[in-house]
Order: sequence, then C-alpha cells, then structure tokens
Amino acid sequence: MKKFDVIVVGAGTGGCLAAKIVADAGLDVCLVDRKKKEEIGEKVCGDAIGKHHFDDLGIDYPAGEELERRMMGVRIHSPDRKNVFEVKDQSLYGFIINRRLFGQRLLKDAIDAGATLLESSLALEPTIENNFVTGISAKNLKTEEKLELSSQIVVDASGYSAALRKKLPSEIGVQTAINIKDVCVVYREIRELREQVSEPNFCEIYLSQEWAPGGYSWFFAESGKNVNVGLGVAMSGDFPKPKDQFHKNFLSLPLFDGSSLIDAGTWYDPTRRPLDCMTGNGVVIVGDAACQVNPIHGGGMGPSMRGGADAGETILEAIERGDVGRDALWPYNIKYMHSYGAKQAGLDVFRLLLQRLGDAGLNYVMEHRLITEEDLLKASMGGDARLNITEKTIRLFRGLRKLSFLKRLRDAAALLKRVRQHYEEYPASAQSFEPWRRKAQSMIEEAERWQKLR
Ligand SMILES: Cc1cc2nc3c(=O)[nH]c(=O)nc-3n(C[C@H](O)[C@H](O)[C@H](O)COP(=O)(O)OP(=O)(O)OC[C@H]3O[C@@H](n4cnc5c(N)ncnc54)[C@H](O)[C@@H]3O)c2cc1C
Repeated sequence: MKKFDVIVVGAGTGGCLAAKIVADAGLDVCLVDRKKKEEIGEKVCGDAIGKHHFDDLGIDYPAGEELERRMMGVRIHSPDRKNVFEVKDQSLYGFIINRRLFGQRLLKDAIDAGATLLESSLALEPTIENNFVTGISAKNLKTEEKLELSSQIVVDASGYSAALRKKLPSEIGVQTAINIKDVCVVYREIRELREQVSEPNFCEIYLSQEWAPGGYSWFFAESGKNVNVGLGVAMSGDFPKPKDQFHKNFLSLPLFDGSSLIDAGTWYDPTRRPLDCMTGNGVVIVGDAACQVNPIHGGGMGPSMRGGADAGETILEAIERGDVGRDALWPYNIKYMHSYGAKQAGLDVFRLLLQRLGDAGLNYVMEHRLITEEDLLKASMGGDARLNITEKTIRLFRGLRKLSFLKRLRDAAALLKRVRQHYEEYPASAQSFEPWRRKAQSMIEEAERWQKLR
C-alpha cells in the first residue's frame, strides 16, 4: 500500500490549492484525479472570476492565452428588461479565463510544489479505521488496476460529485447529504456571434425566474466574437430542462441570429450555504463537494480556492501537532466561515428572497429602486441588503396597497443579516456545534417558509 501524508481527491481549483499549500511545506501529497493530466481544468463553466480572489490568495492574474477578456463590471437586467442596473466598481473587476489553461496552471503549481499526480484514477471509497479516514481505494481507469492508498488526512475536493463525502459514515460528523432543491442544473454554450458585442467588458446577468426558475442566467463575452452563455435551474419540483429554457429564451434573441455553436454542456452547481461541518477524523471537504459556491450567481472557482487554501493551512497545523482528529481539523470550518462562508450563508437567504419575489416582484424592486445599484453590489458581495425605502416609496406603496410587500422585504433583509452573523459566530469547537447547527437550520427554514411576495 502506498503511503502519503495527505491525499487530495480532485485536481480542480479547490484541490490544487490545498495540494500546493501542503506540498510547499514539504509534506508528501498525492493528488488524485479521474481525468488525464492534459484534460484537468477542462469543465463546463461560465469562466468568470473576480480579480479580488487573486488578490486575496496572492495568485498571479491570468495572462496570455489563459486570459480571454478583462471585465469592468456587471449589468443586471430586470425580468421585463425595462431596467438595467450597471455596476462598475473596482471590487467587480474580473476576468473571463480559458478554463483548461487556468486549471493547468494551478495543477502545475501543485506539482512544482512537490505534489504527486495520480491521473486517470477514480477514487472509489474512503478507508475507515476506528472512526478515522485513513486513506482511499481507487481504480486506475487505464489499466483497471485497483489501488489502496493511505494517508494521515484525506481531502475530498472531487467537485459536485463529492465522491468520498457521500460515502462517509454518519459518526465521522461531516454533513453528507444536501437537498437537491438547493442545487442548480446548469446548461452552457460557447457561441461565435456574427459580430462582436458592442460593450464586451461587462458581465450581463439576466434576472428572470421565467427563464431560469430558482436560478440565474448569464451572458459573458470571451475573446473575439465568442460568447459564453448559459442558465441554471434549481432542481425543485418539476423543474424544466435548462437546455430547453436556454433555447426558448436566450437563443430567440436577435443577437444570436447567424451564430454558430462551438461547445455545449450541462453540469451541476450547489448554490447554497456551505456544509454545516466540513471536517471529520482524518478528513476535510473542499470546494463544490462542500458547497463552497456563491448562491446568487453560482461562482465557485474563487470560493473553492479559498476553501482549498484554508484547508491546506489547517492541515499543516494539525500534522505538525501530530493530531489529525476532528477537533484538530475544526479550525478549517471556522477559517472558511470567516473568509467566505458567512457571506455565502447571507447570500443564500438573498437567493431564497429572489425566488420568492418572482419576476413581478423583481420588476417592482428595480423599477422603484427599492435597492440601489450600490447596495445591490454590496449585497451580492456578501454585505447587508440595505433597502432604499423612503417616505416617497412608502406613500407610493400605500397607494398601490402593497405596504405588506415592503414589510416582507424588510424582514428578509433583517434575516439575511442575522444569518450572516450566525455563521460569523461559528462554534469554536465541535462540542458546541449541535445547538449552532439547529439554529442555522431553523433560520434557513424561516426563509424557505416565505410565501411568494405580491
Ligand atoms: C455550467 C456552470 C457554470 C459555472 N460558471 C462559473 C463561473 O463563471 N465562475 C465561477 O467561479 N464558477 C462557475 N461555476 C462553478 C465552478 O465551476 C465550480 O464551483 C468550481 O469549479 C469548483 O471547483 P472544485 O475544485 O470544487 O471542483 P471541480 O473544478 O469540479 O474539480 C473536481 C475535480 O475532481 C475530479 N473528480 C471527480 N470525481 C472524482 C473521483 N471519484 N475520483 C477522482 N477524481 C474525481 C474531477 O475530474 C475534477 O477534476 C460554474 C459551474 C457550472 C456547472
């Protein structure tokens, strides 16, 4: 049996960051991926990532062929298309990247730091001994050979498939299951338009529950005349197929007349708060496998890299202390909740609010500017959802007999703040986790009980 200090399953954005940090410190790391080396990084994705993630993590900006386009801001279109909020701010600068080349760079960084890549190798199961994860079983997809690998700590960074997390016994203490209504199934196309779009440096976001029930729609310009367009639909009830929604709504826009398809695909995005607990004896969960994704727009490259870095740092401390139990790895939960998880939880409430508003409600909010561009920007970055409710709006809504609409918006903004604060106060140790978890669950249930706002 091959022995390592750390096994990282999944060489995506999250796994590569975790592997690099741990290997940099001289530990023996095995990075396992089902894909061939040259295919790592290739993924159905919107390819957009904020500049601030690179600044926070100290990673070089994409350049050369890795960079498709620099973005300067975001335009948010109301469902009826009558209102567009244009938000241009340094905090929204970002990049459209070549996903494969970006992934290859992160992989190279991890390998250069000393990680051993086991390509074309499918992780099958965690190995459990005395309530500790002590390794994995895997299969070489080229030779069909079965492999047993052991380590002090295993990282599940296998993306949405969460190959190991789902197979952990409940005694390990990691949240293993999530509700699929909090997951979007996302369809994406890359198309070449007849002409380049007139203002390619804005990420265009279309708010429309009719187009993307429970989810989101985007239109990003890549280099030249290429665009990356898609929509995600929440897997709730009898949800429609995102590909059908895409063809019916997006492709009927005149802009796409004469366009040609370059690439298309569908995958899943866990658009919700992070897992309640991402650590167990000898195991940590990172990236999509831990639901580390922005719930509003599904962006998960930045959060997964943050999660990978937070996990990597905690793993180093635990191994140095010679204790890889759940308590020793607990600081990873706290680190992530502080770095991004609390924002994510607040945004999860914001997502539920958007769903309850429906298209008519969203049109109202944007038309009457119940939230300003600036506050929408702050809210989408994880800040408070400050509402712009003036005496004038109150008079107007009283006249329209819609004062209860305003009250419920206020309640929603207050809940968002409370949820974020609760995640910021994540328990210092596993002993006080259960009451914290119950309170978190009841707050989310409160948001889920909101009726459609009218
Ligand atoms: C259509 C779509 C559009 C998106 N658009 C954006 C966007 O514009 N911006 C953004 O930031 N995010 C976007 N996301 C989300 C983003 O892609 C993910 O959040 C991010 O890639 C998560 O990184 P990860 O490292 O957790 O997982 P991944 O990048 O998915 O990597 C997981 C790795 O694990 C490997 N693996 C899986 N199972 C096994 C196994 N059993 N054994 C071995 N290896 C395994 C896979 O081969 C893969 O390499 C989008 C997602 C979708 C579906």
